Amino acid sequence: MPLKRSEFSAFLKNFLNLLYPDLCCSCKTILMQGEQHICLHCRSGLPFTGFETDRENSFTALFWGRVRIETGTALLYYVKKGVVQQLIHSFKYRSDIRLGRFLGGLLGESIVSSELYREIEIIVPVPLHPEKERKRGFNQSKVIAECISRAMDVPCLGRVLERSGHAESQTRKARFARWENVASSFSLRQVEAVKDRNILLVDDVVTTGATLEACANKLMEAGGVRLWMAALAISS
Ligand SMILES: [Zn+2]
Repeated sequence: MPLKRSEFSAFLKNFLNLLYPDLCCSCKTILMQGEQHICLHCRSGLPFTGFETDRENSFTALFWGRVRIETGTALLYYVKKGVVQQLIHSFKYRSDIRLGRFLGGLLGESIVSSELYREIEIIVPVPLHPEKERKRGFNQSKVIAECISRAMDVPCLGRVLERSGHAESQTRKARFARWENVASSFSLRQVEAVKDRNILLVDDVVTTGATLEACANKLMEAGGVRLWMAALAISS
């Protein structure tokens, strides 16, 4: 009996998988059926923060006295040379967008599971400088924001904020100059789209919070805005 189309594609997939097995992006063992990107063992060892159910947590503490947010969360703790750094590096610098979507999906699920994020009406990603986005081919914060958007069934508005200024290397600048640079490098392009709305602002990794703070201040300029924040990881 000839194979049906679906059977054939499953067969082909299994056959290719024999030749080029999918590996765990952390420990590099061959992934089993049902495992995606990361094996169950490594996944269970990921440093999840659990912030999504705490209104006050070390993510929101970063913004005390700086910008008023309803609450905020990061999915994972970011430790230098750890698994999370590896994952995010593969996503951002080796363009593993499928991995980014997988992580974004986990963040989306965690937010949907929480009571604290029910009032959100729109999602806004932190923009990349257009030149940088062209070079990389994508904006990692937008990829994450779109995953949350799908999970929450809330629209993602990718062109509300724009990153301007020159894309000069940030690392060569002194800390204060860098902060000043971040604070003045965003502009609000669609005031009416965000005015009086409940907004979830999304970034990839939060370190000092300066980028999110600068974007938050821009969104607030529209008036009547309430803000939530989310990121894949927070440096600890
Ligand atoms: Zn593994």
